[in-house]
Amino acid sequence: MIPVRDDLRALDGYHSAQVDVRVRLNTNESPEPPPAAFRDAVAAEVSRVEWHRYPDRAATELRAAIAELHGVDPDQIFVANGSNEVLQTVLLAYAGPGRTVATFEPTYQMHAQIARVTGATVVEGERAPDFTLDPAEVERVVSEYRPHVVFLTSPNNPTGLVEPVERVMQLLSIAPGLVVVDEAYAQFAEWSALDLVAEDRPLVVTRTFSKTWSMAGARLGYLVGPTWLVAELDKVVLPYHLDAVKQIAGRLALRYSDDMNDRVEHIVAERERIVASMSDLDLEVFPSGANFVLFRVGPGQGLAVWQGLVDHSVLIRDCSGWPRLTDCLRVTVGTPEENTAFLTALADVLTHPSSTDGVTV
Ligand SMILES: *Cc1c(COP(=O)(O)O)cnc(C)c1O
Repeated sequence: MIPVRDDLRALDGYHSAQVDVRVRLNTNESPEPPPAAFRDAVAAEVSRVEWHRYPDRAATELRAAIAELHGVDPDQIFVANGSNEVLQTVLLAYAGPGRTVATFEPTYQMHAQIARVTGATVVEGERAPDFTLDPAEVERVVSEYRPHVVFLTSPNNPTGLVEPVERVMQLLSIAPGLVVVDEAYAQFAEWSALDLVAEDRPLVVTRTFSKTWSMAGARLGYLVGPTWLVAELDKVVLPYHLDAVKQIAGRLALRYSDDMNDRVEHIVAERERIVASMSDLDLEVFPSGANFVLFRVGPGQGLAVWQGLVDHSVLIRDCSGWPRLTDCLRVTVGTPEENTAFLTALADVLTHPSSTDGVTV
């Protein structure tokens, strides 16, 4: 073995348990696939792909389609293989060694993770016990560390909370560097920071095809930001990073936005049903503006409840061992049948805690 970079030695990878179960509600995917008409349209175009040629390096048509969706200029759109690669490209360009990146915890773990991989120093601001963000804490982190990049996630993952517009405005007014608003779940929220994007403002908003667009299998994400920033990202990213098939799939997906909005409606209705059912149980349930629900079980019970659900063939996300999330679990909203299976299993596990003895994880 040869030694890895000193600063990577202490780093843990990003893990989500992959267990063979009947009901998988652990990674916030859409429970419904995209419509059959979309699949047929993709198949027809893919049959005409010139496989011996490199794809359009600038992803011209895909960027034009995304720009049209948001009413912005195509030069304001940067596309990559999942929004995680978008974030990585942003951090390669604006973070890196000697620079500082700020997050407000708990939040999406990949922000700090990718920042560290680029060699940046990560500073963690703290959210209140109810996971809201105090303006004084935003002020403290910005004035104390002068971060080159600051992240907000709205709706936040894994908490589900929608960040109020005032918090984003406050950050924009005091941040010395780039503000990134991760909107992986934006279609579930009542407001978006997209309207704030402007040429004279160091703000980017990131989106993904993985959740509401039912295309986690495609690995496609993008950001909307100032043109001068997108131009810098184009210098950093690898040439031809977006393959021809993905460009087709992304462009055609946007023609089915009505279907996407219908799916969002179904998910929100099911989310409300889950939250209502859970209020009958002895749990702390956090308000969610996304396609998942975070909840806290009794002291010391997090792992046992998670395992009990796995024993009922229901897999959710175990956050109970994460900092600040003691005894918290996160369930993704699935199909009505899956959600009922989850609720039934949860009620059973909570009323028969002995069946969760002998936890094996
Ligand atoms: C799921 C998720 C993403 C999506 O990442 P992709 O690489 O586009 O699949 C990004 N940000 C947050 C907060 C997420 O929860």
